Amino acid sequence: MEIKGRHIVVAGLGKTGRALVRFLVRRGARLTVTDSSSPESLKDALAKLSDLADADLEMALGGHDDAVFQSADTIVLSPGVPHTLAPVRRAALNGIPVIGEIELAYRYMNTPIIAITGTNGKSTTTLLTGRMLSAAGYRVFVGGNLGTPLIAYADQGDSADFAVVELSSFQLDTIERFRPRVSLLLNISADHLERYPDFDAYVRSKGRIFENQTEADIAVINKADPAIKTLKPKLSAQVFSFNADASDPAGAVITDADIRFSLPRQQPYTLDCLGIPLMGRHNRENIAAAGLAAAAVGASFEAIRQTVESFQGLSHRMMPVASIEGVDYIDDSKATNVDAVVRALASFSTPVILIMGGREKGGSYKALKDQLPGCVRHLILLGEAADAIEHALGDAVPASRVSSMAEAVQAAKAIAVEGDTVLLSPACASFDMYESYARRGEDFVKCVREKEAAGNE
Ligand code: ADP
Repeated sequence: MEIKGRHIVVAGLGKTGRALVRFLVRRGARLTVTDSSSPESLKDALAKLSDLADADLEMALGGHDDAVFQSADTIVLSPGVPHTLAPVRRAALNGIPVIGEIELAYRYMNTPIIAITGTNGKSTTTLLTGRMLSAAGYRVFVGGNLGTPLIAYADQGDSADFAVVELSSFQLDTIERFRPRVSLLLNISADHLERYPDFDAYVRSKGRIFENQTEADIAVINKADPAIKTLKPKLSAQVFSFNADASDPAGAVITDADIRFSLPRQQPYTLDCLGIPLMGRHNRENIAAAGLAAAAVGASFEAIRQTVESFQGLSHRMMPVASIEGVDYIDDSKATNVDAVVRALASFSTPVILIMGGREKGGSYKALKDQLPGCVRHLILLGEAADAIEHALGDAVPASRVSSMAEAVQAAKAIAVEGDTVLLSPACASFDMYESYARRGEDFVKCVREKEAAGNE
């Protein structure tokens, strides 16, 4: 793609948008940046680009103007800007090329890519895969939807042995030729239905991670996932499955105690999972998927084992906070959809006091209605979604309402008895009460620690 001297419109001025600007300025584009937020609220973002004062760079802020998009030679979208936005669609209809940041980065990279997507577990699996490859002695870039944008890596030399890239469905919506050496799809469950017309459209979006692969590439997929099964007949890449059967030629069989890998031309390998830091079957799936991807490009099982034994997981994903009077408190604030909660609950064999609620994302709570009576002693509801959750779950389990995290933790502590677990796993976004899932998790941790400190006085 020609950049020098071309008029490129970048949509979105967040972290990725700014990395796009730097990449394109360095390569001599004439740039216009558009963002729907006002110049006032973008003050900090603009300050971060102040060193580009001499660049051929115009700002069109406070809205997405048709004239701006129509004047572009090419439009490049940040992940946060939907390709379905009306002015973007109108420009595309006029024949103006529209691509996303990932596609642009891909066109300027030589590093083989391991791309990872799924509704849940992307960040955990991306970091695990990166660590496995580092432990095996490779130079690795880890980023994308997590941490450093891929375009920043493409800009800064593209010199690693592998790029392990987390991708959201929004990023996959705007690829064209993007072709990973390994594409990994963890699972697909209802999420982001506010941005897709229906579940099938969301599944198709996730499936695009495979669309340019050939038989020289590898697709790592979850054999137990019904939505992924519908994509399998269309795959051209070699398939490595997790949740595989012992008869599968390439894959990982997951049991309660271990993961059994079999790969073409390699000795089978059993990874013992008893006593590893990551909790739950869903994390064994993440480990199996990461292990298949890393082994597929040359990591030894010894490097994979070392990584799994030392990997403590990410904050706010099933993270133990404290144990108070024989009750464990676990922060799973990143569980922003129903399936993440279903999988979290399946990790415990003792009763759970579950704190749920926040801003709804359009999914159904039906799966929880069947599951809760077997494992949840009491449900504590918080935030905007409290009514809807109570309505959906009826009297499946006893429930109470609270209006702050401090009240939630207080109520949970009053109900829990020795051996129980208090779990924050909200099934909802955090934006009704917090700026992010991380802030919500931090508030939970703070409230729990206060209880712990009070108990020690
Ligand atoms: P993502 O980047 O896809 O949001 P994370 O690794 O950040 O994934 O985890 C998000 C939430 O999903 C956490 O609550 C975590 O416990 C849960 N989770 C992690 N892996 C899985 C999985 N394989 N299946 C279902 N839920 C998962």
